[in-house]
Amino acid sequence: MCRAGPWLVCVLVCALCPASGRTRAAADSVAEIRAEALNRSRVMEWMRALTAAPRVTGSPALDDAARWAENQLKALGLANVHLERWPFERRWSVVGMTLEVVEPETLALAAIPQTWSPGTKGVEAGPLRAVRVTNKGTIAAESMGRMKGAFALVDGGDSLSADAQNRLQELLASEGVIATLERSIGPDAKVVYARTGHTPEQDGRQLLVPSLAVRQDDFQRLEQLVKKSSSVVIRGNVSVVDERGDPQAGLSVIADLVGSNSSLPPVLLGAHLDSVHAAQGATDNAAGCSILIEAMRAIATANAVTRRTIRIALWGGEEQGRRGSKAYLQAHGRELPAAYFNMDRGGGRITGMIIEGGDLAGEARRWAQRLFTDGVRTIESVATAGSDHVTFRDAGVPTFTFWQDMRSYASTHHSTGDTLAAVRDPDLRQAAVVVAIAAYLAAQ
Ligand SMILES: [Zn+2]
Repeated sequence: MCRAGPWLVCVLVCALCPASGRTRAAADSVAEIRAEALNRSRVMEWMRALTAAPRVTGSPALDDAARWAENQLKALGLANVHLERWPFERRWSVVGMTLEVVEPETLALAAIPQTWSPGTKGVEAGPLRAVRVTNKGTIAAESMGRMKGAFALVDGGDSLSADAQNRLQELLASEGVIATLERSIGPDAKVVYARTGHTPEQDGRQLLVPSLAVRQDDFQRLEQLVKKSSSVVIRGNVSVVDERGDPQAGLSVIADLVGSNSSLPPVLLGAHLDSVHAAQGATDNAAGCSILIEAMRAIATANAVTRRTIRIALWGGEEQGRRGSKAYLQAHGRELPAAYFNMDRGGGRITGMIIEGGDLAGEARRWAQRLFTDGVRTIESVATAGSDHVTFRDAGVPTFTFWQDMRSYASTHHSTGDTLAAVRDPDLRQAAVVVAIAAYLAAQ
């Protein structure tokens, strides 16, 4: 029965056979894994370490987080702990930023640089000018020739095509603006959202002038002020590091809990370690990484033996188009994992499991029922997008992701609100329990 294809059938048979000694051992191990991840959890310790700083792909802060993860996974007793490198050259990070209205009133503005923005020439001050933008990325005639040494209040730029956005940037640069101020776009008006982290090389958009997203209420205040008065003065400073260094600066962290049968393909658990720069990337995706590290710790500490190796991968470059997981597939394409689990929906409680790819829906449904004790209520086969599981699903690997309570993630990710305060210890513990038991059962 145990052919390479329907391996979950074997899990099912073993799990349901009451006379089997293996079943009793598995049940004991599940209980021990649950007790470990629920009662002796270290998941908040991982969260605190990983949210020390924003972890933009290529930035020194991501290097630090990867080194921390490498050391920690070794300390937990995992094997084959190493970094896998892939091409990524740009090292961009925000060093500091201030932005305020100084005339006709004083107002500190909540703002962040857009991803990959250039910096200003130190602290600069100048008038605020509203710019009307056409859908072709040109500037309305009344604004032309009035922008030198000014801050440009630009609305509607986000809806332009990449070409039109580039045209607009070229125009604003040739006009000599200090910086553009753009409306923050996202579901929560209390935080500031950065645009996606795609690189200019990837989506063809090139920022030529310092570009800032401004919180919605502050943006509205600027619109009011500039309508009333032509003498609104803004002062601001955007300081970034933007270098090209090691051409192989992309990285992912890999480690194994070695199974008893090394000839079997591993079960792979993945979460992306990189974040956008807006905040410390707690829900997106220190939470996913911490849940997986904790799941690995619980399985290891419970001495739960599996036939298959369970491998953890903390990817870099997800925000730039799943670069880390794609590089892994390129390097390991001949040894595809037996199954891939992905965590990238924040730190909320797990409520369901999603099965994609492969031909395992029926078998996995029955196997996954064992997760119902710990809060899983639904098992579905639907296509989802937007994270590293797509890399493996498209290569034919059965992939498993989880429905979670998404409220915190939905409002905070890619924003200044994505801080440690956006996750809760009990939710992370529950998620770690579910993932650890699921990974253990899959690797039996
Ligand atoms: Zn993410």
